[in-house]
Amino acid sequence: MKFDVIVKNARIPKGEDTIVTNILVADEKIVGFLPNIEGIEATEVIDAEGHLTIPGCFDSHTHFMDPGFTHRENFLTGTSSAAAGGLTMIMDMPCCSKPSVRGVEELESKLNAIKDKAIIDYAMWGGVTGEDIRAGKKNIIKEQADYGVCAFKVYMTPSVPTYERVTDPEMLEAFRWIAEVGLPVGIHAENFAMCDYHVKKFQLEGRMDGPAWAEARLVEAEQAAIELGINFSEATGARLHIVHMSSGIGAKLVGAAKKRGLHVTSETCPHYLMLNYQDAMTEHGAFAKIAPPLRTKKDNEELWEGLQNGSVDFMATDHAPYEIETEKAAEGMNIWTAFPGIPGVETLVPILVSEGYNKGRLTLTRLVEVLSTSPAKQYGLYPKKGAMLIGSDADFTIIDLEKEWTIDQKKTYSMAKYNPLHGIQLKGKPVKTVVRGKLVYDDKEGIVGKEGYGQFIRRQSIQKLDKTIKF
Ligand SMILES: [Zn+2]
Repeated sequence: MKFDVIVKNARIPKGEDTIVTNILVADEKIVGFLPNIEGIEATEVIDAEGHLTIPGCFDSHTHFMDPGFTHRENFLTGTSSAAAGGLTMIMDMPCCSKPSVRGVEELESKLNAIKDKAIIDYAMWGGVTGEDIRAGKKNIIKEQADYGVCAFKVYMTPSVPTYERVTDPEMLEAFRWIAEVGLPVGIHAENFAMCDYHVKKFQLEGRMDGPAWAEARLVEAEQAAIELGINFSEATGARLHIVHMSSGIGAKLVGAAKKRGLHVTSETCPHYLMLNYQDAMTEHGAFAKIAPPLRTKKDNEELWEGLQNGSVDFMATDHAPYEIETEKAAEGMNIWTAFPGIPGVETLVPILVSEGYNKGRLTLTRLVEVLSTSPAKQYGLYPKKGAMLIGSDADFTIIDLEKEWTIDQKKTYSMAKYNPLHGIQLKGKPVKTVVRGKLVYDDKEGIVGKEGYGQFIRRQSIQKLDKTIKF
């Protein structure tokens, strides 16, 4: 028998250890592992060169801005940047497109606009806004769920003008509706009144420094929002997911809710592990402006602990680039008026490998869980995605654990040539990215994947993460 692809000399996880093997691929799926491939034929051979090869990494929180805001990013530049960062799949948010996704019609128009651009696979978040809830449009939940979205997103604070935030009672209603379809509801967890009050207060006081943004969007606003979300989850049975959780107190609240048996999960992003607001917002100003904001060094450490003990379930990026000339540093723009958002897909895996695994903060098992397996399970994509099993999609992230390099904000496939992680030295880098048996990124050649190769992956099933909390 002739196989389509052999990924040879792949060092794959076996418990906390690794073994070197060869992975056989047919029809875009894993069909076998062989220690010796003498006499075995394949149309194509991808050499992993003995590097660590893990199930394809998955960023379940991106804003690729397409269609509608393609002066910031589009599905070609976004997925190219992701592939160069070792990602084989992303899951895009419903808010940052024109029209925003709040039903199947908008979802189909978005899928149509991006289908010839993506070089890696993508899943979709469903959407529901305050306006939809007031209008009683409960049907949009079931129709999007039936179409194959993996979760729903609501904002507690204003974000995109076409994607209205929910008030507290509207959020409760959203939880009731979404509980019926069994999918997670991801909340942007910041209490609006608390943020709004402090932003206005600081503006009156004339604060124009970078750190003012982070101090105005205070940690108590995230705490209050997460507590409310947990209450609503308990009351309605909806599966609560805290997106881009920025604080140590958040990790503790989620951990405690899990201990009580509630279906509450969370993600954090590399910048909340690596940067503190005092240093980063003083140095980078609006280029480190995000919501929720960067916190303190103590929060960095407590989120690493959360990743270790399971109160933080997995990693994502909240990749949300803006145009420097018009949206970050336009003439007359200040820390209050600059748009909040930073890129992230190209540096997620490198940071977790370098600062997590290589520095002993994460075991190999945990590294694979937080970058691949856990988000795939959470969003009903496992074991098609997030697994290295017979029958799984042949998605691999191949990592040189020794490669030393420095993050350079100009050297990126993203359209956003700014990054508050600029200048950070790392050890470890994805060197090959394989999506359904196709090499799409090679560290020596750059992007080798084809536009339009990436497929829309519908939710396969409804799954829940059942993690034991280790504290
Ligand atoms: Zn986001």
